[in-house]
Amino acid sequence: MANMRETKMQQWTEWHCHICKKRLNKWDERCCNALKERPTCEKCLAAKYNKTIEEFNQYLDEWLHIRECQGGK
Ligand SMILES: [Zn+2]
Repeated sequence: MANMRETKMQQWTEWHCHICKKRLNKWDERCCNALKERPTCEKCLAAKYNKTIEEFNQYLDEWLHIRECQGGK
């Protein structure tokens, strides 16, 4: 998961964070898709969930794991 995150963080999308206007990378996009959020960068998402980026990534790992077990995308 950590390696995939680093790879995706180096791939840019055409989206921008609706809070800080930073351009989103593929990882941010994946976070938003997973949580069904508007385009938001990882930093603003973490703040929204009241977590540090580290805590947020742990939360997301668990969330994605649960979804995969349910056969979701
Ligand atoms: Zn942002």
